[in-house]
Amino acid sequence: MKFATKAVHAGQDPEPTTGAVMTPVFMTSTYAQEYPDRPKDGHDYSRAKNPTRTALEKNLAALEGGSSGHAFASGLAALGGILHLLKAGDHVVAGNDLYGGSRRLFERLWRPLGLDFTYVDPRDARAVGDALRPETRLVWIETPTNPLLSIVDLAAVAAVCKSARERGCLLACDNTFATPYLQNPLAYGFDIVLHSTTKYLGGHSDVIGGALVVDDAGLAEKLRFVQMAVGGVPGPMDCFLVLRGTKTLHLRMDRHCDNAEAVAAWLGKHRRVTKIHYPGLASHPNHDVAKRQMRRFGGMISFVLDTSVDEAKSVVARTRVFTLAESLGGVESLIEHPPSMTHASIPADKRREAGIDDGLIRISVGVEDVGDLIADLEQALPR
Ligand SMILES: *Cc1c(COP(=O)(O)O)cnc(C)c1O
Repeated sequence: MKFATKAVHAGQDPEPTTGAVMTPVFMTSTYAQEYPDRPKDGHDYSRAKNPTRTALEKNLAALEGGSSGHAFASGLAALGGILHLLKAGDHVVAGNDLYGGSRRLFERLWRPLGLDFTYVDPRDARAVGDALRPETRLVWIETPTNPLLSIVDLAAVAAVCKSARERGCLLACDNTFATPYLQNPLAYGFDIVLHSTTKYLGGHSDVIGGALVVDDAGLAEKLRFVQMAVGGVPGPMDCFLVLRGTKTLHLRMDRHCDNAEAVAAWLGKHRRVTKIHYPGLASHPNHDVAKRQMRRFGGMISFVLDTSVDEAKSVVARTRVFTLAESLGGVESLIEHPPSMTHASIPADKRREAGIDDGLIRISVGVEDVGDLIADLEQALPR
């Protein structure tokens, strides 16, 4: 089946007892058993298994081309799920342009427990290869990155990690910005895909969730154990909301991409915009890689205005259709100023060094009428 059919149907056969076409929200913590230790289809307790969650996990596995999906209570809980596969003394090679919460989890919680982390620029696959050690057990990549929309060549990273992978190092990719509609890291030789389903998969800014997808039965069993033993799993209502979202993922993403392409082209002509970060533009430094590994280029754009911090802040406060807010991936357009919001915890000198200019603005382009979106930016941006 093709993507759109899987999005609507995978994991969601009509409910067998009533024929309900939509997967019910199984609001239950426990299940009646006919005889001790004979749960029906493995259903003994909802931390371990819940039918609404199972439907979501099957749906996500189908969309990413994996054999097994694992839903978590948030994107960061899913990342914690991967880290629980490691032990003290293990080493992780990670990209240096990461979602801030991922880096915080690595440095503040897992480094003190004995994991070691090395950060490299993964756009240079050789740098990833050079950072590998005999005890490296995880390579952690994000592409496109946040907020600069850098693109990492997944096939090139997988190639330099080939022998490390053969001795048990896992390759994992945070695919939140691209979504499974635009990019499938498992197809490039990665072992684990992570999603913050809070973003495009949920798609309506009404739920927090996360998920992992793998294509290996042994790894799936380990993650299933982590879900059950740690317990950072979503409730059935949250699973239902994400499932409702994934049914229209392909429709929404095409509109997000159409709108973002038009907004990026308009920004390109604005005389106060000095830089645009959008992988769909031929001027993007990794445009060729993006063209090769992504179906389209997504709904996220960041751009730099030739203004002070204060002026940039007043621009994001002036929009009317774009809502000033953190997060991304919902049907509604959002705007934010990374230096004072999502990336404020990075010291100013480090931030500028990383390319996050004072006048940087990030937008999550929604699915509204693109003319209204451009008119809104026109009235908000300086002349
Ligand atoms: C939001 C986000 C996360 C964290 O997900 P939560 O659901 O907020 O825990 C991880 N990675 C990326 C790229 C994100 O955008």
